Amino acid sequence: STMPALLASLSNAARHGILFKSGVFLEKLNMVNVIAFDKTGTLTEGCPTVQHVEYIHSSTSREDLVQIIHAIEKNSNHPLAKAILSAIQAVPKETAPEITVYEDIPGLGVRALVHGTVWKIGSRGWTGISEKQEHQLLSTIEGLEGDTGYTVVYVTADDELAAYYLLGDTVREETVEAIQALQEKQILTLMLTGDTKRGAESIGKLANIDEIGYSCMPEDKVKTVKRWKERQAVVAMIGDGVNDAPALAVADVGVAMGMGSDAAIETADVVLVKNDLSKLLYAIKLSERLSRIVK
Ligand code: ADP
Ligand code: MG
Repeated sequence: STMPALLASLSNAARHGILFKSGVFLEKLNMVNVIAFDKTGTLTEGCPTVQHVEYIHSSTSREDLVQIIHAIEKNSNHPLAKAILSAIQAVPKETAPEITVYEDIPGLGVRALVHGTVWKIGSRGWTGISEKQEHQLLSTIEGLEGDTGYTVVYVTADDELAAYYLLGDTVREETVEAIQALQEKQILTLMLTGDTKRGAESIGKLANIDEIGYSCMPEDKVKTVKRWKERQAVVAMIGDGVNDAPALAVADVGVAMGMGSDAAIETADVVLVKNDLSKLLYAIKLSERLSRIVK
């Protein structure tokens, strides 16, 4: 019987921090020939830090901007929100502005109503900043040459630019090796990120990813996975965010980073407990071995 072999492999995986929700996915994994990776928190550590900030609103002081941004971002679980909060000095509670409406829009940013003004904190396109404007803003920052891997987060008040943050993230220690090993197995690697072209390409190049998809809404991640499936590929998707969950659901094998969002972990078929990408490779090897035993 093949059952003992499957159970032995599943427990082997579990000992290595790879949790399969069903043996079916362990059996499928060796057939995967396309793997789509989320960027932030998956290829990168997902602990971005603020490298530079400008507060430039025409009628709101730096102090007030900090208060408002703090009050809004403290409602978000996004790694960029956490980074912004830790860069902002502690704000006294009694002066915190009141948030009347708060909305988290996965892949784009957060929006809130504060004393009748609509504040948006998020990506360039969504906040209404043009590429040209971004280029101009970044060119004024000294010591920032050419294309950088920074993620830029914009803050607007009723569509007027109020502040922007430059955040840097680092590629995971095991990322480059894991990608290379997958490519040696003839697996095509894709990146699907909500970040802009600039941030996506810099991390994509460092990680040596085959194809880079940027400015992806959660639905765009789904579409890409579906498109590859229609081409008869067996597709795995790996991610950590709420924005990755729909794509994890449609992939042949959905893999979540264990320290990721609840939505990703609940939707995925496999969980890498310690966020370690090298475990993905180990899981594939287990699957290959299992298929040889079963044959
Ligand atoms: P990825 O797909 O790389 O994990 P996300 O889809 O989570 O990235 O985020 C995409 C973009 O949405 C970010 O680069 C950022 O511009 C914006 N964003 C989302 N949530 C927030 C937030 N809470 N604060 C600031 N920016 C945000
Ligand atoms: Mg992510």
